[in-house]
Amino acid sequence: MDDSLLRRLPSVQRVLDHGDALELEASFGRRPLTEAVRLTIDRLRNGVRDGSLSALPSVEALLAEAASVLRMQRRPYLRRVLNATGIMLHTNLGRAPLAAEAIAAMADVGAHYTNLEYDLPAGSRGSRTAGVEGLLRALTGAEAALAVNNGAAAILLALAALGGGGEVIVSRGELVEIGGGFRIPDVIRQGGATLVEVGATNKTRPSDYAAALCPRTRVLLKVHQSNFRIAGFTAEATIAELSAVARSQGALVVADVGSGLLQPTVGVAEPTLREALETGADLVTCSGDKLLGGPQAGLILGSAAAVEPLRRHPLLRAVRLDKLSLAALEATLRLHRDAPELIPIRRMLFQQPDELRARAERLQAIIGVGEIVQTEAYVGGGALPDQQRMSWAVALSPAAGANMAAHALRSGDPAVVGRIADDRLLLDVVAISNDEIDVLAEAIGRVAI
Ligand SMILES: *Cc1c(COP(=O)(O)O)cnc(C)c1O
Repeated sequence: MDDSLLRRLPSVQRVLDHGDALELEASFGRRPLTEAVRLTIDRLRNGVRDGSLSALPSVEALLAEAASVLRMQRRPYLRRVLNATGIMLHTNLGRAPLAAEAIAAMADVGAHYTNLEYDLPAGSRGSRTAGVEGLLRALTGAEAALAVNNGAAAILLALAALGGGGEVIVSRGELVEIGGGFRIPDVIRQGGATLVEVGATNKTRPSDYAAALCPRTRVLLKVHQSNFRIAGFTAEATIAELSAVARSQGALVVADVGSGLLQPTVGVAEPTLREALETGADLVTCSGDKLLGGPQAGLILGSAAAVEPLRRHPLLRAVRLDKLSLAALEATLRLHRDAPELIPIRRMLFQQPDELRARAERLQAIIGVGEIVQTEAYVGGGALPDQQRMSWAVALSPAAGANMAAHALRSGDPAVVGRIADDRLLLDVVAISNDEIDVLAEAIGRVAI
């Protein structure tokens, strides 16, 4: 440690007396500036003490550092990210971007009073979800529908309302963790039901469910394997087979299909909600922000007899949707009915490799560095893990290394998140819209690559 360096560290007052401090004080205020200068000097002191700093910056440089601290503090924690990861539905990046119509609906409802729980023609208390329920019924053919806070809440509510006090049968191949520690066995217990595991990890047959069926059985649960795959020597019972087994004992089939596909889609091997219902599920649950392309939400569809107990369950209030999400969900469902091509995630799914290549080339032409490479993009991190798409990226080989450049891009505004492969930083364009290319190029331009 260099004691003379420590002695030469300027005092907070000396830095504040510098001419450059005046302008910063005017835009950020005296007290925040003082705090930022103190923090910057503390960092320098720590750097000298741990040996990582061998020379002191000028007071001007110190003030510039304090200014960048102040700018960072001023920007919101939750902010825009350019998703160059090559994963369209990235759970950590907030899944589906919303359609313009959904954003407009949220802005309108958020800025004003609404008929959230008010029946305007009757002038009395109304239902929060009546609007989305009608759309969901029309889009899926379900007899009844309900919407809650997210997919996990939909399963929790369904199992508590339909399985509580009885037994829920699940295949050992479907006792999954969905993410963030949310595990199906725990959810079943939380709902007050007894878990009955049947079959083996790789194979479960309809007869396994039939053998476990008893008068206490309330639900046969089918969980779609959305974030992993069991390949090879495998077997699972279909919803139709479960339905046949359940009927003999008056039990219900609940199917958690995860990603919420409404229309059959070329190249997306996921069950649609309508299919799950038509093949015999009494209740189907899914997320609103995966393939449906809406806000965070949990959708519940099924027969009136299966949905009604959920409406009356006390948990419903704890997992209800707020007005902003409800507005975005209703607008997204209207688009599914009237103009599905306006839903960003659906547009993304239909992009052709040529179009993606041209977009990557446009990016490269603007930034003037990097190589065009073909990549494997994915539909979703938490949904459809193995459904790859051909895509294109600009591969950067930064002098300072891919990790340093990736960090600098993540710290920018807007932040850019790419992916590192073979010590190159790949910027995949599958989840970057045409309109975002210029913004992305500017963000890259602000960082020394
Ligand atoms: C994503 C998913 C969930 C959880 O939904 P959230 O909306 O994230 O709570 C549950 N089950 C399956 C099969 C999923 O894919």
